[in-house]
Amino acid sequence: MAVLPVRVFPDPILKLSCQSVERVTPTVHRLIHDLTATMRHHPRCVGLAAPQVGVRWAVAVLETSRHPKGAPESGLMVLVNPQIVEADGAVLQREGCLSVPDLTGNVRRAARVRVQARDAEGRPWTAWFEGFEAIAVQHEVDHLQGKLFLDRVSNAKTDVFQRKTYWRADGTSGRPAQ
Ligand SMILES: [Zn+2]
Repeated sequence: MAVLPVRVFPDPILKLSCQSVERVTPTVHRLIHDLTATMRHHPRCVGLAAPQVGVRWAVAVLETSRHPKGAPESGLMVLVNPQIVEADGAVLQREGCLSVPDLTGNVRRAARVRVQARDAEGRPWTAWFEGFEAIAVQHEVDHLQGKLFLDRVSNAKTDVFQRKTYWRADGTSGRPAQ
């Protein structure tokens, strides 16, 4: 497992669609492990998608229990080729992203989504997500389609904010370094 450098906007890979994974090979397994290690290296990071570490494959990991708003019992989820196949409701919520470190934004999303994907062994699964998890999974699926939360903000002047708090690797927070 390796902690990989995270690509930051406006890196062009963040705007490209990813390729589906046909088979979960040892290379894909390594990617899943590296995504997990990289996500866990960053405090409060609840998900990470392959393009954020420079890989154009439709693979992401999600672990919402790492955040106070997440469900404590939800464990690590591996999303290979995830698709949102049903959605309902609407919520407006503040989002951030490791690849957009200095900004947060108010983003409108579906309140509930049903996701079809494959797991780390290539087995298909499907599940409904709601609340904080629904937001997080939509954010990661967007990454795999070359979209950032900035693309979903309805008004860049009123709905994008300079980040005031940064989380350090030791879990403490603080103002950005000058
Ligand atoms: Zn993100």
